[in-house]
Amino acid sequence: MKLSKLVCERTKEIPNDAMMKNHILLLRAGYIKQVANGIFSLSVLGQKTCNNIENIIRQEMDKVDGQEVKFPVVMPKEMWDETGRYSSIGSEMARFKDRNNHDMLLGMTHEEAAVHLARNWVNSYTNLPCMIYQIQTKFRDEPRSRGGLIRVREFTMKDAYSFHMTEEDLNDYYFKMHEAYERIYKRIGLKNNVISVKSDNGMFGGNLSHEFMYLNEFGEDELVLCENCDYKANQEVAECIYPKTEKQNLLKLEIVDTKDAKEINEVCDFLKTSAEKCIKAVVFAVKNEKNTVVCFVRGDKEINETKLRKVCKKEIVPFDASNESEFCAGNIGPKDFAVKNCEMYFDLSLKGTYNMVAGANLKNHHFVNFNLERDFGEVEFFDISKVKNGDICPVCGKKTKIFHGIEIGNIFQLGTKYSKSMKMLVKTSSGEEINPIMGCYGIGVGRNLACVVEENLDEKGICMPISIAPYKVHICPLRIDDKNVERVSNEIYNELIKKGMSVLIDDRDVFPGIKFSDADLMGMPIRVVVSPRSLEKGEVEIKERKSGEIVMEKKENAVKKIFEIISKENQN
Ligand SMILES: [Zn+2]
Repeated sequence: MKLSKLVCERTKEIPNDAMMKNHILLLRAGYIKQVANGIFSLSVLGQKTCNNIENIIRQEMDKVDGQEVKFPVVMPKEMWDETGRYSSIGSEMARFKDRNNHDMLLGMTHEEAAVHLARNWVNSYTNLPCMIYQIQTKFRDEPRSRGGLIRVREFTMKDAYSFHMTEEDLNDYYFKMHEAYERIYKRIGLKNNVISVKSDNGMFGGNLSHEFMYLNEFGEDELVLCENCDYKANQEVAECIYPKTEKQNLLKLEIVDTKDAKEINEVCDFLKTSAEKCIKAVVFAVKNEKNTVVCFVRGDKEINETKLRKVCKKEIVPFDASNESEFCAGNIGPKDFAVKNCEMYFDLSLKGTYNMVAGANLKNHHFVNFNLERDFGEVEFFDISKVKNGDICPVCGKKTKIFHGIEIGNIFQLGTKYSKSMKMLVKTSSGEEINPIMGCYGIGVGRNLACVVEENLDEKGICMPISIAPYKVHICPLRIDDKNVERVSNEIYNELIKKGMSVLIDDRDVFPGIKFSDADLMGMPIRVVVSPRSLEKGEVEIKERKSGEIVMEKKENAVKKIFEIISKENQN
């Protein structure tokens, strides 16, 4: 490919919302172009790279007996009514009416379509286990699209669905898939900083699930990792463990005027105490209901909404305190709490606490020396708060640390949620009919590209891994007006093309500095520089983008040397 003909533009402009380096570099190097919020076009550079990632995914799926299929992007409401998800999924799913006034939707996940495809064809134990997968465009109307390809609304995903007769069989396959994912990340260039953590199943339902996370400070997911053992969990499901506390003397309950101190830090300042000695109240509204939920938690801890949802079994949303409410905002406490239709939950962090500060449900007043059991009564404690940096590991008891991560893949054990609701039946060897047990496995192509760039860059630009680079070789003829340079450059170019290599040649009549800085920015792994000076010795320069390693090679050996570098890299 001639660079002068490449439909992409290298630019110095950086959008205001670009935080992560991969976003800036993919835009600057012309791999992607934003069309609308969370919607991007890919140039040939972006598309070729994504094709290479997809092919690696395809190979690894085929290794675990995957069968590639394709489900439609547009599906009718009826298919999603079978599982109840047409109504249970919110506005992130795009819905529309076709010309016959029929309700349709844009797929954001394809469990329904997978069961629909398999349910009549897969009906005996002899057909199982089996796995079908697709690489397909999906649309999810994200409210918070950001970070270039990290969080988008339209994206390409590989999603796979497996069917099994027994839990054991699903379990075996699940861990084979876990290994396949690890191979994919290594092969596409994410050799470091990828971990898998246990996660919450969210809207997919089911039992065991893991998320693959790329560790990065900009990641939206919080991960709890043990400094000592192998414990890793998403904050959403991470268990809080508290050391046993010494019994203390119960001091006399007092009520004090705390003026307009409302936030925990203001109350602590006023009473000269610490957040650990306060009981914090957090109020949630229940979606589409008048009821509310109030949670009491130690002042230094935050409520984990995912855990709370599981405990209270309600769709909770943050409470809008700006409305007139019965709550005595800033002074809410367990004792003398009189709000109607409000359920109370106590976090485990309050177990074994003594002489605490708590709201008195009276304007500008707090209790001091409040003791939950003595002053309120016996309560049930639930683990509904987030793990803090330095909290105790639930496995080994040593300290945990909080990291941030970007989810680059997930695997779920679904159980029979979809096969049951969609009435998929398979005959066992004894002739009885059961709902097969399912697993599902997702990986986003664009998001992985973004993370690969984040992992493989330097101050000059992208260092694309050989395995996914859009062009493996970038030829820079310096002084294209020099006939000798032009001839040798074209010879190398043509020979590489003939041997099936993807090659870019910078045929522009520009200064060498511009050629080099563009080559560094775009990041093709091998650069060949052909200059009048090196040709005096019959040599060309071959440079590896990532290591910066340079060799001078006889021009007739250049192609052989390039193949050597690539085969060496492929072995790593
Ligand atoms: Zn541990």
